[in-house]
Amino acid sequence: MSWDFETEPAFQAQLDWMDGFMRHEVEPVDHLISHGYDMTDPARQRLIPPLQQEVRERGLWACHLGPNLGGPGYGQLKLALMNEILGRSHWGPIVFGCHAPDSGNAEILAHYGTPELKRRYLDPLLRNDIVSAFSMTEPAGGSDPTGFTTTATLDGGEWVINGEKWFSSHARFAAFLIVLAVTEPPDESPVPSHRRMSMFVVPRETPGVEIVRNVGMYGHSGEGTHAYMRYNDVRIPADHILGERGGGFAVAQTRLGGGRIHHAMRTVGLVRKAFDAMCERALSRRTQGEELARKQLVQQMIADSWIQLEQFRLLVLHTAWKIDRYNDYRKVRADISAVKAAMPQVLHDVAARALQIHGSLGASEEMPFGAMIMESFHMGLVDGATEVHKITLARELLKGYKPASGLFPATHLPRLAAEARSRYHDVLAELHSEEV
Ligand SMILES: Cc1cc2nc3c(=O)[nH]c(=O)nc-3n(C[C@H](O)[C@H](O)[C@H](O)COP(=O)(O)OP(=O)(O)OC[C@H]3O[C@@H](n4cnc5c(N)ncnc54)[C@H](O)[C@@H]3O)c2cc1C
Repeated sequence: MSWDFETEPAFQAQLDWMDGFMRHEVEPVDHLISHGYDMTDPARQRLIPPLQQEVRERGLWACHLGPNLGGPGYGQLKLALMNEILGRSHWGPIVFGCHAPDSGNAEILAHYGTPELKRRYLDPLLRNDIVSAFSMTEPAGGSDPTGFTTTATLDGGEWVINGEKWFSSHARFAAFLIVLAVTEPPDESPVPSHRRMSMFVVPRETPGVEIVRNVGMYGHSGEGTHAYMRYNDVRIPADHILGERGGGFAVAQTRLGGGRIHHAMRTVGLVRKAFDAMCERALSRRTQGEELARKQLVQQMIADSWIQLEQFRLLVLHTAWKIDRYNDYRKVRADISAVKAAMPQVLHDVAARALQIHGSLGASEEMPFGAMIMESFHMGLVDGATEVHKITLARELLKGYKPASGLFPATHLPRLAAEARSRYHDVLAELHSEEV
């Protein structure tokens, strides 16, 4: 029997170091740079690389990767404990070399890239000398990829890509994009809809790669980072396809499974940040002669928040444990969808209560709660909308059930009582004979 909730001392020492390093060195950087992905920002280049070097020396660089790709291969459970700490800071994941979308794009390149693509893009990506973008969602809708219309056709030994993509985050800083495009159009090929698309590496400087505009998120200042892209006769070499032709969905799953749980691990940290602030304020603010913390309605907010946070954290840790155990994302599909669906709600609820307890200050730009609440909506969309994940979860769960054998359900009490009487017929008969 092994069912352990303790962290081994050597790894706890690493976590303790991370906690102090994040608090004193990394979290302050959030207030000094606007885009951690902007490799042309002199402040970013002065502040981030020395911190990354410290992380490397500590053996904590790119902990989502195995030793074959330069990471320590700690596994998902340890990564979850680390990511909880990283989640407190916007740029923490970059400092530790495990930031999206580069983490997932690196996994795709490692699995499916040619040696030349790996040399040109994977190696510098793993060192964070460059950043990349993932270009999948289209302006006409992201939740149903079978409706995507961007095409890639073979012409003279090259793929030619045409179409529009939407919300390709950080494309304006990226050295390359990973693009999903239709290679088997329905009017030319009878394959099923999930076999119509393929994944490609598109170097950012390729002629025809156009950023129509950089969309900003509500509440963020300055130019946005989520690119509305147009691919105009973009020609790339034939070997820039990743995986097999028509296998784009399978390749996408390589990155999305990990990406979703990693976002959730970091969200635990962000929720805890809101919770800590809530408790501090409840103990600091007085009204009607006593601290807010003594008001029962405030106590309820604190209790509800802690319960939601701890439930979510256990779900995340258990899912991470299962990934380590099974080493197969298909076996944790339901768990990952559950985590993904729970994440925005927990962040939203706890951040909203923290805002409320801080009153007008909480609603102001001087506190982070408004941004956290918006972030909860991002979390409900990135890597698939909440509704879609709930549908996946329910479908997966229903696979473990079958219809009732008769007209009434298996839990119909008269039926259970009849079965019980039949099962213990002898005992009941004996009791009955004793009575008479
Ligand atoms: C911060 C951020 C960063 C992103 N970065 C990237 C990126 O780098 N690359 C990329 O390719 N994409 C990116 N996206 C896009 C993201 O993947 C999409 O937002 C997501 O797939 C949903 O697509 P959509 O926005 O077009 O919403 P739609 O598909 O239009 O869906 C709108 C809403 O309809 C509802 N809905 C959808 N399907 C169902 C259903 N089956 N049943 C019930 N209700 C449903 C949901 O409420 C959903 O939110 C990013 C999004 C955000 C917010």
